[in-house]
Amino acid sequence: MNGTLSDALQPQLDDWAQQHLLRQRRQVQVHQPATGHADLDADAGPGSVLVLDGRPMLAFGSNDYLGLAHHPGVIAAVQDSVARDGAGAMASALVCGHHTPHEALEQALAAHVGLPQALSFHSGYAANVGIIPALVGPQDAVFSDALNHACLIDGIRLSKAALEVYPHRDLEALTDALARSTARRKLIVTDAVFSMDGTLADVPALLALCERFDAWLLIDDAHGYGVLGPQGEGSLAHHGLLGAELQRASQRLIYMATLGKAAGVAGAFVAGQPALVDWLKQRARTYMFATAPPPMLAAGLLAAVNAIREEGWRRQRLQALREQLARGVAELRLPWRLMPSVSPIQPLVVGSNAAVMQVMQGLADEGVWVPAIRPPTVPQGTARLRVSLTAAHSSPQVDRLLQALARVAGRMATQAAHIT
Ligand SMILES: *Cc1c(COP(=O)(O)O)cnc(C)c1O
Repeated sequence: MNGTLSDALQPQLDDWAQQHLLRQRRQVQVHQPATGHADLDADAGPGSVLVLDGRPMLAFGSNDYLGLAHHPGVIAAVQDSVARDGAGAMASALVCGHHTPHEALEQALAAHVGLPQALSFHSGYAANVGIIPALVGPQDAVFSDALNHACLIDGIRLSKAALEVYPHRDLEALTDALARSTARRKLIVTDAVFSMDGTLADVPALLALCERFDAWLLIDDAHGYGVLGPQGEGSLAHHGLLGAELQRASQRLIYMATLGKAAGVAGAFVAGQPALVDWLKQRARTYMFATAPPPMLAAGLLAAVNAIREEGWRRQRLQALREQLARGVAELRLPWRLMPSVSPIQPLVVGSNAAVMQVMQGLADEGVWVPAIRPPTVPQGTARLRVSLTAAHSSPQVDRLLQALARVAGRMATQAAHIT
């Protein structure tokens, strides 16, 4: 019995609204430096101050970690390409949608991460949902970290492989599960940098387990590519996997990263051995049965990859801001714990859902926007502010965040004293 759509759906929506669980979009405009907003000092880039639902806010919620979404070279490359190549790809890559910029991008990405070949996808979501079912099926088993991203989980479900979830970064539990498995193929799947904690997967140890148990490893480097590694090569270089060692690892490795985060545009890619890439062209349905992304995006991404390699100051700035934030949280004796992370994801654990919403609202009243992350996205009692720093932020902006946090903490302490 369906009833009408609104009979069936509206009561649940109303329920969610009452419990403050309704997810809401804000309408966003990028505040340009020319407008002279107080939070846009000389060192800050566009993207650090956003007009959210009409109100300018100093924003710490973006994944554009290197500030490349507004890079003049990236924007110029997109403009040149749209004039030359047109607005759309006209067909799927396998028909007549694989344009010159797509080919150049794939070659640049493979060279950058040090693997033989690369294949580009529309998004990280499309890549993971395409790759996993292309490689494993009902006779196989997937071993998945408990904190993996939703699109890895959807890819696993679609594959119909048996699923073994192991506790976050628990190599002992993973070893036991691999030892017990009688599956035809075994695939370990993990975020390389976990999106809500900023913790890292131990990639070398996972590769050693693959050799020991004859398994494969898919790493999702959405938050590592561009940011980690001396030239932004990502998690493999960060863990010292280079040269001959990387070539050896690549025999069992499926490397995937997104291009809408540190690369500042949109898309994703998979890199690895030629056999892997050839196979995905034949079997990854999200690659085969979708119109290729507009060539202008590939052209913009090619400029972004060059900026990632050559503009090391962006990673240095990110590291300096991270150190400034950690120092400030300690010096101000804020009552919340900053989770240690080498990534731009700097979670500040507040605790209860009510408290985190109070802190988020308090910051918003101060003109600072930081997203709150609550269960079930993170475990009960660890609701947090997910501060993400970018190279578009300036040191005075991080000071503004710290001062706002201190004032909110002070107000909350005063209120608590009145209640008890
Ligand atoms: C954001 C994200 C994705 C999805 O990538 P999109 O390009 O945004 O679709 C995949 N995996 C992880 C770990 C992510 O954080």
